[in-house]
Formats: sequence, C-alpha cells, structure tokens
Amino acid sequence: MNPAHIKYVVAAHGHDDHFGGAQYLADTYGARVMMHKADWDLIAAERPEHAPKRDLEISDGQKLTLGDTTIVFHHTPGHTPGTVSPIFPVRWKGRRHTAILWGGTNPPATTEAKRTNLTSVREAAVTMRRAGVDVELNNHGGADYGLTRIEQLRAGATKNPFIIGPARTQRFMKVMETMLRGRILQDQ
Ligand SMILES: [Zn+2]
Ligand SMILES: [Zn+2]
Repeated sequence: MNPAHIKYVVAAHGHDDHFGGAQYLADTYGARVMMHKADWDLIAAERPEHAPKRDLEISDGQKLTLGDTTIVFHHTPGHTPGTVSPIFPVRWKGRRHTAILWGGTNPPATTEAKRTNLTSVREAAVTMRRAGVDVELNNHGGADYGLTRIEQLRAGATKNPFIIGPARTQRFMKVMETMLRGRILQDQ
C-alpha cells in the first residue's frame, strides 16, 4: 500500500496508542484526521504528547464512502466518551462479508463509564445483527487473538479466521457484556 493514498485517518478513540501517528500521516501525506467530538475534547483537555490537531468530527451513524466502500461509524462510548466502532463491507475470495472494528476494549475506570460501555455493547450487538456482521476485528489485536489470526492468514490459511459468522460475532459481544457486568459488580 502506498501511504500517499491515505485520505483519512480514523482514530477510533482518543488514547495515544490509537492516534500516535495521526499527525505524522496528516503532515506527510495530507491525510485528514477523524475522531468523535467527545474525544477531540478529551485530548484537548488532557493535552497528550503527539496529539493530532483538531480536524474532522465523527458523529453517530455518519458514513464515509471511499470508492465503492461505505463505512458507517457507530458511537460506542464507554472506553472513552467518544469511542467509535465502524461497520464496513469486506471481501474474501470474491465473497462479501460485513465487519465491525470494535473501537475500545478495556473496561474504563469508573462504574458510570462501565455502565455506559455496557449499554454500548448491548446496543452494538443489535446493530451488528441487523447489519449482518460476520467478521470481528479489534483495535487491540492481542485481545481477540487478532495477531494470531493475521499470522494464520500470512501462513496461507484457506479459511479466513476473521470470518466467524453472525452467531460468533454475537457471542463475542456477549463475552464483553459478561466481563463488564462482572467488573461493575466488583466495583460495588
Ligand atoms: Zn484506549
Ligand atoms: Zn488502546
């Protein structure tokens, strides 16, 4: 891939491991940086090192079309107030599939934010079922064996390990729901 072709950098949330290179890509290749308003506000308040300059805002349900591919951004707050999880079409061996990239994985610190996260997980599961999501991706590849699965693909896997089907993407959300409920109970 030629990095000069990058038009948009989507920061799924405002933590430095997800925007660290964004300003470099903007400066070097003229890419526009996108983030939810709440997380532009978050990084403005926290003033982290290497934060990108405030640019495009993402709102819930917003679409971004690139060629014949349309990405839909879903606001899934909790991990941060402005976490977004895009749903988008993907192709494997000529077949179309629908992927979600879950935008924020680790449970947040406060009970209130955990409850917000729980609501986001439950609502996203419904959205995913409606959209026919059958591919699960995570922005922390260590959290869902994503890195292992990439290695399986590199090694020539004939069955794509990211295409897990609608039932198992729902199960993935159920695991996050159960984890969050447990963490909320631990807070009491
Ligand atoms: Zn984070
Ligand atoms: Zn992270």
